[in-house]
Amino acid sequence: MALREQDLVLSSLPPSRTQQQLALSVALLIVLMALLISITGMQQVKLAVIDALVPLFGMAMFVSDSITAVLLFTQFSIVRSRALLVISSGFVWTALVVIPWLLSFPGVFAPHGLLGGSSSEITVWLYTLWHAGFPIFVIAFALLKDAQPAKRLRQLPAATAILSCIVGSAAVIAGATYVLVVFQAHLPSFMIDAMNFSVLWYYTAAIIALLSALAISLLWIRRKSLLDLWLMVVMLVFLTEVLISSFPVSARFSLGWYAGRTCSLLSGSLILIVLLYEITIVYARLIGAVRAQSRERGARLITGDAVAATIAHEIKQPLSTIITRAETGLRWLDRASPEIDKAKEQFAEIVANGRRAGAVMDGIRGNFKKDPRIRTWLDVNVLIEETLTLVHGDLQQHRILVRTEPHAGLPQIMGDRIQLQQVLLNLITNAIEAMAGKQGLRVLGVRSEVGKEGNVVVSVADTGKGIQSQEIDQIFNPLFTTKPDGMGMGLSICRSIVESHDGSLLVFPNSPEGAVFQMVLHASTTTALASV
Ligand code: ADP
Repeated sequence: MALREQDLVLSSLPPSRTQQQLALSVALLIVLMALLISITGMQQVKLAVIDALVPLFGMAMFVSDSITAVLLFTQFSIVRSRALLVISSGFVWTALVVIPWLLSFPGVFAPHGLLGGSSSEITVWLYTLWHAGFPIFVIAFALLKDAQPAKRLRQLPAATAILSCIVGSAAVIAGATYVLVVFQAHLPSFMIDAMNFSVLWYYTAAIIALLSALAISLLWIRRKSLLDLWLMVVMLVFLTEVLISSFPVSARFSLGWYAGRTCSLLSGSLILIVLLYEITIVYARLIGAVRAQSRERGARLITGDAVAATIAHEIKQPLSTIITRAETGLRWLDRASPEIDKAKEQFAEIVANGRRAGAVMDGIRGNFKKDPRIRTWLDVNVLIEETLTLVHGDLQQHRILVRTEPHAGLPQIMGDRIQLQQVLLNLITNAIEAMAGKQGLRVLGVRSEVGKEGNVVVSVADTGKGIQSQEIDQIFNPLFTTKPDGMGMGLSICRSIVESHDGSLLVFPNSPEGAVFQMVLHASTTTALASV
């Protein structure tokens, strides 16, 4: 499971169908709620005055917008897109502007707010800064978001960029608050008296509504990601809030006013909820990818081990024969009257086994390459005879009786001589080893026959210790062995060779004891002797 950068970066994650439906449902719900309140004219219905609600609401806004900003800044530090920096700053803006807004709010910290002057007037100005400011950030985000990666802020350290935005937003808000407090008397007024708004407010509310609508349109035109989708919903909430609490203006603590605050809270938390949810999903995806990667690494290690073990396994047998033959040869020569002819015999065997080792190496390479060019028509009965000759010494040493039953009219098969001989050699060596440590009659039966659809079937049966039923499924696995010095590669190599010949290698219990390995070479790789 390979993960691309866009699978992990929330700002570029495309929304799923369910997420689109969810966003649409939230948007519809908000619009319906607003329509219901407006149509029934319930905005002005006076509700209970809960003073504690304003500071609670302000704190909630501050916390949720700050966390959203932190999450978006983290995304920015990964992709370094200007758009992300802008939208993160938007959330810093809304988080920070809440502070003077709360300080100025009449009745929260002091009956006329803490900022002095006409607190209601300053509160409305700060509300305007808040609600007109955020859509401007969203518009800038929508315009910047498809910028070329080259235009990204790679050269600027992420921390510097983030810090500049936070300090910049804080400075503008602090400066604006200072101007409002000091020059309030010279600024146009939003309020006619303590309860009624001037016409300026209606223009301002219309501008906020227009900015929100423009942000929605731009996001809609350039929509791509999950972030775009939910920012559209947030802007719709902004639009709704401004419309229901301004046309007509809802008095404080009326239903319209409470609905407006609920909208603000909703717009502040929506992106946060979505980001947190998506981070969990991305995190799960990441864990999945890490697991897949370690599995892959493990598999690669096993393959590496398997290749090394294959080479060692296949070379061990001719090498030990070479050593034995060389020692015997030396003994013949060391005699008082050296037996040159007997020594020559041993040297001839050394040469033959050396060649076999070379051929086995080529066979292993061929096995991994599956080279079809080294395949020829073969008589399996001859192959069996040759293999039995190779292990003649071992068979004698362990006093094993050999019973061969070659089928006279056996079709030839198309295959790799060295590889198929390797299979027979492995099966017979395993059979010898299974019988070696066991008392009683030791019989090796090697049989060839014609199976269904003209297949060639070769069975290697022994009267050894047999295979435990719980091990049957594992014996063909690479590196599975029950022998103290075993490598567990023989059967796995045998099966892969037979399967590369389009055949199959099976195992059954022998009666009354031991095991039978059966190699079936399919008719597609066989031809009747007569046709050759
Ligand atoms: P190795 O011989 O190095 O153990 P193999 O892949 O050839 O590796 O065999 C895997 C295991 O299968 C052996 O360790 C043994 O337990 C079991 N096995 C293979 N052939 C026989 C047999 N003829 N009789 C009993 N057990 C066998």
